[in-house]
Amino acid sequence: MVLAELDMIRPLLVCPCCRADLRADPGGLRCTAPDCVYHASPGFPDAAGWPVLVDFAHSVVDREALDSPASSPDVRRGADALPAPLRRIVKPPNLVAARNIDLLLRALPGPAPTLLVVGGATVGHGVGAVYRDARVRVIGFDIVTSPATQFVADAHRIPLRTAGVDAVLVQAVLEHVLDPVQVVAEIHRVLKDDGLVYAETPFLQQVHAGAHDFTRYTASGHRYLFRRFEEIAAGAVSGPGTQLLWSVDHLVRGLTRNALAGRATRAALRWLRALDRLVPPDFAQDDASALYFLGRKRDREMTEAEIIAYYRGAQVSS
Ligand SMILES: [Zn+2]
Repeated sequence: MVLAELDMIRPLLVCPCCRADLRADPGGLRCTAPDCVYHASPGFPDAAGWPVLVDFAHSVVDREALDSPASSPDVRRGADALPAPLRRIVKPPNLVAARNIDLLLRALPGPAPTLLVVGGATVGHGVGAVYRDARVRVIGFDIVTSPATQFVADAHRIPLRTAGVDAVLVQAVLEHVLDPVQVVAEIHRVLKDDGLVYAETPFLQQVHAGAHDFTRYTASGHRYLFRRFEEIAAGAVSGPGTQLLWSVDHLVRGLTRNALAGRATRAALRWLRALDRLVPPDFAQDDASALYFLGRKRDREMTEAEIIAYYRGAQVSS
């Protein structure tokens, strides 16, 4: 894994509260704006050596609980917690993401483009090429510490300069934020002109990560969320077969009151996933488990008429 050095990205960092420059003091990073609450001591704390650039007055991240590992929400439990061979059965490789990440990497400009991973504590499914590309400077943050990130931050107030990065990856994250519109506005802000975004977001999935799961999107809703971006590609990450597989898993969980029984059923019925390939894209997007959007930053928003005309599903309006 190749991550940008913290020293290299430090010039990009700003105060998450007021976006003023930061100053490194012996006690940690502080905001340089005299009127800002993070100007005075103690400034921004550290968690296990990682700077925590969070505006605690407007975040689910609790300053008092930072030192307690038990307080860190693990938003990617479930299949990711299983041993690797079992994980491959329950959660096979994401080939759609791999194809789209290849598109994104090819479209990145310059000799050392900067790519920001929002919610990057765990390397996402099918996006490993981002971390293997020696050309790309990867910056990662999340609300928990991780070897795959350089600082702790809240995506509602990204502590990076405006127009500072070339691309943003936000995979299976927007369902876990309280206000996806604000997070996408922040992604738009930190991107350079013509910057790229790649997002994957659930549509028909059960609640995961318990208290930290808030939102689902249809294909049209997902497109409108990125209304200040031009579309390069969009569609289903996984279709009705996968959706049915997860539904059966959760039905069995409910009947047996046992998550393991649900997962075992999912492993036994994993062939359902292969049915995704038999469903054409228009039907798939109306019944997708998750959706993707690859786009390029634009200033102009989609109009109401454009989002209605955008629908590519299989349903004829009556
Ligand atoms: Zn400040």
